[in-house]
Amino acid sequence: MRAKVLSAELGVATLRDLLYTFPNKYIDRSTIHRIADLQENMPLVQLKGQIINIDKVTTGPHKRIKAFFTDGTGVVELVWFRSLKFVEKTLRLRVDYIALGKPTLFGGRFSMAHPELEEAKNAAQEMHPMQPQYHVTESMRRSGFSSRLMSNLVSSAFSAIGSEIDETLPASIIAEHRLQNINAALRTMHYPTSSASLAEAVRRHKFEELFYLQLGILRYANHRKRDTQGYPFTIVGKMFHRFYEERLPFELTGAQKRVIKEIRSDMRHGKQMNRLLQGDVGSGKTMVALMCCLIAIDNGFQACLMAPTEILAEQHLQTLKQQLGDLPVNVQLLTGNVKGKARDEVLGGIADGRVNILVGTHALIEPTVHFLNLGLAIIDEQHRFGVKQRAKLWQKNVRPPHVLVMTATPIPRTLAMTVYGDLDVSVIDELPPGRKPIQTIHYQAQDTPRMLQGIGHELSQGRQAYIVFPLIEESEKSDMQNLENGYEYFKNCFPQYAVAKVHGKMKPSDKEAAMREFSSGRAQILVSTTVIEVGVNVPNASIMVIQDADRFGLAQLHQLRGRVGRGADQSYCILATHHQLNENTARRMEIMTETTDGFLIAEEDMKLRGPGDIEGTQQSGIPFQLHVANILHDVVLMSEARKAAEKLLEIDGELKLPQHAVCEQQLAIIKRTTSNFSEIS
Ligand code: ADP
Ligand code: MG
Repeated sequence: MRAKVLSAELGVATLRDLLYTFPNKYIDRSTIHRIADLQENMPLVQLKGQIINIDKVTTGPHKRIKAFFTDGTGVVELVWFRSLKFVEKTLRLRVDYIALGKPTLFGGRFSMAHPELEEAKNAAQEMHPMQPQYHVTESMRRSGFSSRLMSNLVSSAFSAIGSEIDETLPASIIAEHRLQNINAALRTMHYPTSSASLAEAVRRHKFEELFYLQLGILRYANHRKRDTQGYPFTIVGKMFHRFYEERLPFELTGAQKRVIKEIRSDMRHGKQMNRLLQGDVGSGKTMVALMCCLIAIDNGFQACLMAPTEILAEQHLQTLKQQLGDLPVNVQLLTGNVKGKARDEVLGGIADGRVNILVGTHALIEPTVHFLNLGLAIIDEQHRFGVKQRAKLWQKNVRPPHVLVMTATPIPRTLAMTVYGDLDVSVIDELPPGRKPIQTIHYQAQDTPRMLQGIGHELSQGRQAYIVFPLIEESEKSDMQNLENGYEYFKNCFPQYAVAKVHGKMKPSDKEAAMREFSSGRAQILVSTTVIEVGVNVPNASIMVIQDADRFGLAQLHQLRGRVGRGADQSYCILATHHQLNENTARRMEIMTETTDGFLIAEEDMKLRGPGDIEGTQQSGIPFQLHVANILHDVVLMSEARKAAEKLLEIDGELKLPQHAVCEQQLAIIKRTTSNFSEIS
C-alpha cells in the first residue's frame, strides 16, 4: 500500500530509487526557537511546546483545524486546511511536541500552516545541524508518510543494499574531474557532515546527470551522421548564379558569405545536414536562407521555410518574392489562413513539384502536406523546435531533407548545448555595414513630454515611428482599450502626421492594408501590438516606443527593438513604464538600456525569469528531465560535462572498451525511464 503511494507520487519503485530520492533541504534542528523570539521573514523554525486548545471547522468552504500551541513564552496557531481527518486523529493535548514550520504573522499573532509535528520524545535523538528534509506530497501525508518516515526508509535501503553500490561513472572521469565516488556521494546527500562535503556530493550528482545528458545527445548525433544518408547537393547552378549577378541588392557581409559556404559544403557530400544558424536580429539571416533555397532548387529539389507566426510567414513570402523578382522561382504560402480552393491549389503544386519554395507556419509539417522532392527545410526564429519536431520533418522525403534552424534570439549556451546539442553551428557575428547601435532610453510617466519631443524630432526628419502596446489574452479587453486610447492620443499629439493601427484581432486583409500604409511611408506612425515582433522590415523607421515595457520579457523587448536600427541613421528605442517598478523589472530595463548584445540579454533573461518558464523549455527540447542539475545555473559544469563526453566518444565512439561498459548501462537505464529519449534514439 505504502509502496504503491511511493511509486505513484515520487516514482520510487526500487531500493535504488529510494537512495536517489534526495532531501529537498537540510535544516538546522540543533536549535529550538522561543515563540517570544519569532520574527517575520524567518525561514523554517522549530518550536517545542504543547497544544492547549483545538478549534475545528470540518465542513463548508472554510474547513480547517487550528491548534493553539504554547511553549510558555507565547502562543502560535498551527493551522491545517487539508487532510483534516488525518490531522484530527493525530493531535493530542498536553503532549510535548516539536513543531517545524514557517512562521507568518497574521492578525497580530504568528501562525504556521501545515507544520510538521512530532512528539518530542521521538524527535529527541535527531537534533542535527543538517537534518535532511524529504519532500512529502499531500497524498503521501494522508497515507502516513512524513519526512522522518522517508528518512527511515532511506536508512533501511542503505542497510539492505549493503555497503557497496556499483560505481556509475567510468574511473577515468572520476579521477580527471575529481569527483566523489558514488558511495560517498549518495551517503553524503542523505547524511551530510559538513556543507563542504555536501557541495561536493551535489557536484558529483550534477556532473553525472549532465555527463549522461551530453553523452546521449552526442552519441545520438554521431549515429545519425553515420547512418543517415542525405541528398548530395553537388552543384551550385544557374539559379544561384543568376540571383547573385542580377538580383542581389547589396554586397553580402563576410559573415554571410562564410556561413553560406559552411552550409553549402555541409550539403554537398551526401550526409544529411543538421545545422543551427545563429545571428542577432537584423544580421541578415533571410538572405542566407534564400540563397540556400536556390542551391536546393539548382539540384532539383524543393525547399521550405517555416516561421512561427502567420504574419512572419506572410512577410517572408513578400520578401522572397520581391528579392527574386522575375527569376523563374515559384514561391507559395501555406498557413492556417490559406483555405479551400487556394489551399488545394498550393497542396497540388507541392505534390507535383510546381512549387519550388514553400513558406509557411507549422502547417508545413502536417502529415497532409506531401512534397514531390523536399531537399531543404529551414526553420526561422524558433527556439522551441526540439529534436522531436525536427524528427517529424525527416519523414518528408525518402531520405531526410537537410535541416537549417535559424535563431535570432540567441539562447543561453547551456540550453543551446542541449536543445541543439546534436546540431552543427554556424554564426553570423557581423551586422550589415553602416548600422549604428540602437540607443535605448527608459522613460517613466513624468518623462512623457520629453518622449513626445523625441518622436516629433524623428518625424520632422522624415522618419517613422512604432508605438507598441502589450496585448495578452488574460487582460485582452483592457489591453485593447489601451491600444485604442493610445491610437487616439498619438493622433491628437501629431495631427500633421498619418497614424496607422494594427493588431492581431484585425482581419488579415485590414492588417495587411495597415502594414502597407506604414511600410510604404504613407503613414508615419504605426500603433500596434506585438504582431510586429518578428520579421517586419521598415528601414526608415528610426524610433520605437514600447508602452508598459515592464510587461515584456527581455528576449521579446530585444526582438521588438530589432525592428528599428535597420537603416544607416541613429535609431532610438524608448521603454515607457508608468508604475513603480520592482527590483526585477528595474533591472530588466537597465539591461536593455545598457546593451544590444543578444547573447547577454538572453542569459540575463533566463536568469531573471526563474524556473517556471525554463521547465517549458526543457520539455520542448531536452531529451530527459534533470533532477539535480539546473540548466541555467550549472553553465560551467555543463561545459565541463560536454567536453568530457566529447573526449570519451573520441576515444571510444561505440563505448566498447570494458572500462566504458558502465556508460552503456547507465544510458540504457536513462533511456528506459524517460519516454522522450527513446523517441530520438
Ligand atoms: P534577421 O537576421 O533578423 O532575419 P533580416 O534577414 O530580416 O535579419 O535582415 C535585416 C535587414 O538587413 C533586411 O532589410 C535585409 O534586407 C538587410 N540586409 C541583409 N543582409 C544585408 C547586407 N549584406 N547588406 C545590407 N543589408 C543587408
Ligand atoms: Mg528574420
